[in-house]
Amino acid sequence: MQFPTKLFINGNSSGTSDRKPIPVINPATEEALCEVASASERDVDTAVTGAQKTFENIWRDYAPGKRADVLFAIAKALREHAEELSQLESLSIGKPISDARDEIAMGARTFEYYAGAISKFYGQTIPVSRGGFDFTLRQPMGVVVAIVPWNFPFPIATWKVAPALAAGNCVILKPASQSPLTALRLGELAAQAGLPDGALQVLSGSGQQMGDALVKHPLVRKISFTGSTSVGSHIMQLAGRDIKRVSLELGGKSPNIVFADADLEKAATSSPMSVFANTGQDCCARSRMFVERTVYEKFVEIFVQSTRKIIVDDPAKPETQIGPMVSGQQREVVEGFLQTAKTPRHKILCGGDRPSRKGYYLNPAVLLGCETTDRVWQEEVFGPVVCIRPFDNEETMLSEVNASPYGLSASIWTNDLKRALRVSKRVESGVVSVNCHNSVHVEAPFGGFKQSGLGRDLGMAALEGYTELKNIYIAE
Ligand code: NAD
Repeated sequence: MQFPTKLFINGNSSGTSDRKPIPVINPATEEALCEVASASERDVDTAVTGAQKTFENIWRDYAPGKRADVLFAIAKALREHAEELSQLESLSIGKPISDARDEIAMGARTFEYYAGAISKFYGQTIPVSRGGFDFTLRQPMGVVVAIVPWNFPFPIATWKVAPALAAGNCVILKPASQSPLTALRLGELAAQAGLPDGALQVLSGSGQQMGDALVKHPLVRKISFTGSTSVGSHIMQLAGRDIKRVSLELGGKSPNIVFADADLEKAATSSPMSVFANTGQDCCARSRMFVERTVYEKFVEIFVQSTRKIIVDDPAKPETQIGPMVSGQQREVVEGFLQTAKTPRHKILCGGDRPSRKGYYLNPAVLLGCETTDRVWQEEVFGPVVCIRPFDNEETMLSEVNASPYGLSASIWTNDLKRALRVSKRVESGVVSVNCHNSVHVEAPFGGFKQSGLGRDLGMAALEGYTELKNIYIAE
């Protein structure tokens, strides 16, 4: 298989850097797939300057319909290369191939959605008290930097690149150093589909090394970031000096709340994959479970039975549900959390051990006996670990749910419609799923409350985040 290894700058995939290239490791074999160029500050400047030129001379003046045609052509190219992209994603981060295929399809769908959406994103006419004619315009910002993580590399890149381009901006995409391959191919395929040179550039490499140069570059107008809360906070502080726009999709510690009147079988059999999918490396992972005490024992029994049936195996096999973790280092972080569990209070009912095979695998762990003060209950583990606690009272449970500094996603299981609405309103999170675990829809806004972020990806809301609002008044 061929791997893209060069920076993609100004329509050219030949960009090398004077920095040491970074190996991309297949987590299922622990072996290097290839080495990918790591951008330097000079590359950042070349890319941003080129993007600004394309913005001023070409892309912002394309009629929206012409931009839409290009975005549809990119979506078509992604669908034509879907299998190649799925293989690249699966090999580089250990994602089960069936999940990778779904995520590539979602990326193509995101381009189609924003190709169609841009002609439905209107301004207003405002009856101002002076008379005359007052109206608003949504205008592109200029150069947007999109920084994305390694857990859902391709879809998250498209959630930022597609609306930013649709709105008339040029984009510098920075993938995580663990997962640069599909981002680099996205740059190449978009150019082949007709995107002008410089409108989308891809800088692989270390965020710690080039991040500050990207954020501080004077021509960069907006940083759209998905990743950890600590890096998000750093970026926000740096961007704040020049009042640059930021949107941040950050960490989570999402609750899964099961009331006694819920369809217990459905809740207990579907909940394991709400936390263990993607090997638990999911900002929306429902890792804190609140189960009403009267059904707690029965729920835990079915939950553990279902967890034991999950297929943890080679990500290349179509039936695999959970692959390895992204790296040995990430697995050790998760094992560190499990080591905080102490008998007799804590009980690990299953998992938490390494399967006897090569690769950074970890069996999904079900942990009981947590107190709300435990680190494993409070912090984002970012691995296959769930904590389940019983509750007796809705009010007390809700204050425990909302005690978290995070507020990304939540699930509520109940057949009582009034309760579903009441609890949905009270939970402090950007996304709530009732009787299911679906957090993300291309057409609906996605993002967090509190330390889970700022601004929204997806839906029409994302277009607001990639435009400036201008008011124009024409005197009578
Ligand atoms: P991370 O913060 O370590 O890295 C994210 C990206 O930021 C990478 O591309 C990295 O290279 C870059 N980066 C690192 N340091 C930087 C710096 N100083 N300046 C600029 N860029 C820098 O996060 P990760 O480990 O890749 O991803 C896991 C985290 O992402 C988890 O906390 C998870 O919850 C979060 N996440 C959130 C969402 C969401 O939508 N809310 C989605 C996926 C992941």
